[in-house]
Amino acid sequence: MLKKPDLLSLTPIDFIKFLQKENIKKFFFVYNEEKKSLTASHSILQPIADFFINDGRDFIEHEGWFCKVSDEYDMLLGAFVHRTNRGQAAGGVRYWSYDTIDDYFRDGLRLGAGMTFKNALAGLWWGGGKGVIAHNPEFDKMNPEIRKKIYQEYGLFMSSLNGCYVTAEDVGTSVEDMANVFSGTRFTTCIPPEFGGSGNPSAPTAKGIISGMEAALEFLEMGTLKGKIVAIQGLGHVGEPLVQFLFDRNVKKVIGTDINPGHINSAKKKFTGKNLDCRLVDKNDISIFSEDCNIFSPNATGAILNSQTIPMLKAKIVCGAANNQLEDMKSDGKAIHQKGIVYVPDFLTNRMGIVTCANEQYGHINKDPLIENHFSRDWEHSIYNRASQVLKESKEKNIPTAEIALKLADKLSRENHPIFGHRGKEIIKSLVENKWHLG
Ligand code: NAD
Repeated sequence: MLKKPDLLSLTPIDFIKFLQKENIKKFFFVYNEEKKSLTASHSILQPIADFFINDGRDFIEHEGWFCKVSDEYDMLLGAFVHRTNRGQAAGGVRYWSYDTIDDYFRDGLRLGAGMTFKNALAGLWWGGGKGVIAHNPEFDKMNPEIRKKIYQEYGLFMSSLNGCYVTAEDVGTSVEDMANVFSGTRFTTCIPPEFGGSGNPSAPTAKGIISGMEAALEFLEMGTLKGKIVAIQGLGHVGEPLVQFLFDRNVKKVIGTDINPGHINSAKKKFTGKNLDCRLVDKNDISIFSEDCNIFSPNATGAILNSQTIPMLKAKIVCGAANNQLEDMKSDGKAIHQKGIVYVPDFLTNRMGIVTCANEQYGHINKDPLIENHFSRDWEHSIYNRASQVLKESKEKNIPTAEIALKLADKLSRENHPIFGHRGKEIIKSLVENKWHLG
């Protein structure tokens, strides 16, 4: 068995101490497609590169990843670039705590590749990547002064990467944080609306989920949403507008759960007089999975479709915004497929978060086609059309929907940008030639 280098078992903070001892402030790993090799910026880090390329779990020919130790707080700032054929790598920056440096790298690699597939399926001329900041538990995560400095530094870090990765908002990062990123770079989206940004994408995300539900209903010849019963886990930023869109389409009933009393009260108030059955639940309560309903919509957390919950499902369709719903893409994807449930892959339907912000520098217009096309039925990349295509092919080939969607996304992600070609790769090459890690 492949031996994991000891360095990967270090906590992020101990890894930073190791880097400081070695006088390393910045480092990278870059992939050479021709030689099929992964090279580290420093020979002492090469065992990590060798491990990732041979391990084959989360590293899938990522073009490169770049990290820097923050100036003041001993946090790791990272940019994980997966594939840039369709354009510069685009995806949000996550601010998160990690037990080991291995977990940190793997999360960045997995999330970066996920963005490649989401962006390609959405027909965006953007590649895929993700930013990750590893929190240092010695500091208060919510301290506004620390956040300001960290995100300003993250912006400067973006600038140093010459645009191979363009960042955005993600879990743990707020719109105020994005304003601080913006103060240090032009390579960001999701900036506050007052600076020209696109604003909160949650309602468009919910509308995209409606498109996915409609595609699944039509695929199963179950008609429209009218008269249907929909069970929703999570009544937050996406869940609440989703309820509104469902009532607008005359569903018979919505059943909802949330762990936050404020969100339950807000939904009850907003939908007074509507057939909304919503209840406050405990974090581990999974009763929503066995509700008698036509559609189950996960809009809370990920990894909720697993060996415990899939057997409970009574719905014919699963379609929601939560990221990474299948706990195990392969085995749980297969289990849900074999149960005869139509699962509309999350990375196909929940695209509107990145769609609304990715192109915000091109300006905004009323009924913007850059947005509206995704809800249409006459654009090949629309959510409805892509979902219909995936569901049809899944049935014909008897292969789980997520696998079909991934294969299609992989193919699309290898198409080169019509104007800029595979420029991201050239940017990475220049960074290496210019010895970015020593600058
Ligand atoms: P949110 O935090 O506003 O809402 C999530 C809701 O789920 C919260 O109200 C929370 O209390 C509730 N919740 C958490 N655990 C629960 C549980 N066990 N049972 C029931 N409710 C639970 O987040 P959001 O912006 O509405 O996003 C929802 C999901 O969709 C997330 O997974 C997010 O990553 C994903 N997503 C969101 C967007 C977007 O535009 N907001 C885009 C793409 C993907």
